[in-house]
Amino acid sequence: MNGVAFLIFTRADYAPALPGRAAKLLVIFLKKLQAYAANPVYVCAQAENLSATLLGLTSAAKPLIAKSELEAVRSLFNDVAIQHVAIFNGIYPLLDRDETQKLFQIHREYRADISYAENLPPGLTPYFVSRDLLESLDIMEARDEDVVAVGLRAFVEKNINSFHAEVHYEEPDLRLMRLDFSLASRRSLLKTQAFIEKTQHLEAPYAGMHDLIKAHPELLHTFPSYIELEFCTTASNKNYFSPLSYIEQQPHTLTRENFDRVKEYLATGLGDTSVCASGLGEPLEHPQAVEFVSELLSDANLRNVFVETNGEHLDKLLPLATHASADKLRVIVMLNSLKRFSELAGAPAAMLEKVKMNMRALTQALHAAGKKAAEIVYLQVLKVEENETEIDELYALAEELGATFLLQKYNRYAGLMPERRVSDMTPLERYACWHLRRDLFIRANGDVAHCKQTVDQTKNTARGNLARNSLAELWLGQRADFVANFQEKYPSHLPCATCDEYFTFNF
Ligand code: SF4
Repeated sequence: MNGVAFLIFTRADYAPALPGRAAKLLVIFLKKLQAYAANPVYVCAQAENLSATLLGLTSAAKPLIAKSELEAVRSLFNDVAIQHVAIFNGIYPLLDRDETQKLFQIHREYRADISYAENLPPGLTPYFVSRDLLESLDIMEARDEDVVAVGLRAFVEKNINSFHAEVHYEEPDLRLMRLDFSLASRRSLLKTQAFIEKTQHLEAPYAGMHDLIKAHPELLHTFPSYIELEFCTTASNKNYFSPLSYIEQQPHTLTRENFDRVKEYLATGLGDTSVCASGLGEPLEHPQAVEFVSELLSDANLRNVFVETNGEHLDKLLPLATHASADKLRVIVMLNSLKRFSELAGAPAAMLEKVKMNMRALTQALHAAGKKAAEIVYLQVLKVEENETEIDELYALAEELGATFLLQKYNRYAGLMPERRVSDMTPLERYACWHLRRDLFIRANGDVAHCKQTVDQTKNTARGNLARNSLAELWLGQRADFVANFQEKYPSHLPCATCDEYFTFNF
């Protein structure tokens, strides 16, 4: 690759991973770069341990001091011998030689400002920029701070008509699998390592990647990224759209002991799992709800803490507006109708005003605490026949209350409840269930459900219970179900065949 400098530019924090597993992956990446001996390699990494490790492992790489990717690129183009920069936003042990070569050829042949692979997972190819990109930025009078705020490639994507960008698409399209091999997170690191152990084609892994995943679907199953934690099995108000209107639940509340077990399990995870206080009952009716949510917010192992509520007791969360980690909170208030509120919420009509008042108080308290309330509080509406004519009004209400509006797909719990969808968003081609891959559903009595659809406790709905089984062991059981589901073999303890929730994606 004549005239190309390689730039490793990453802001990821590798401190927790180095010098353990990641160091081995670094060596693999650097060995791959050795194949491009004629191309200079520059390292500009925020994590000092990454810079030091990289530079210590290879004498071929040079440090580059720059505050941003744009500054780094400008600095490299000061060297007249450099015509293009290949930018690696991370460590790429699965760097694909063939795809990289293909992308560079396109970039050079079409004299592009920038060329990138549209649908390849991060970590397989760098993206290429040429000197002309800086000219295009000048012509559009782009402000450096705007480019730096989002990153070079993302800025181009947002202003695509101002650049000559070559966007390469490669078959097969695996974007649905949401793979990331850039080692930007511990999840990415774990997955990359697992793929490297299995692949027979380390130099050009993408061509065989789909077959590899089909042969080993367990590669996609790492650690739960979303845990639905039921605080209460019951609710004072039985929502018309809730399974509680169709099945009887024994009253249970989450115990401190089981709550602590979940937290212990989270501490063994990847630091990016979210927990949602939800399930069938109303979480804020739990006497320790605020204490639990507050503890979850303080837990550094968690990404976000969700609370799905009918809003009646939302005022309990007001003290959390000033919590040091309130930014991690996501409060979802479920409100399906104004005109038919009492009937659909299963609550007295007067409760509607209380819900509105509570929401307004919470968004105001968050605002006063300097938080972005609209990123924290949501008004969620089911897309159903019963409220079809009210959507605009509900949208306006969300805005008026300082919240964000969300439209949610109706779930009939695999046939437990009648069909009420207004539209069918089911993909034409079925694929593996996201919930088996990413979620755990823990009931208030400590049961770990087979999946979010198995809610009728009079039937065989649990894999085990927190009092008897470890979550790690139960998650492994779920992995076997995920593999079977991926292969379209639906076991008798799961209603997959009649389920239309497999494609819905929790945060
Ligand atoms: S597809 Fe199967 S495992 Fe997934 S949510 Fe539906 S019933 Fe549960």
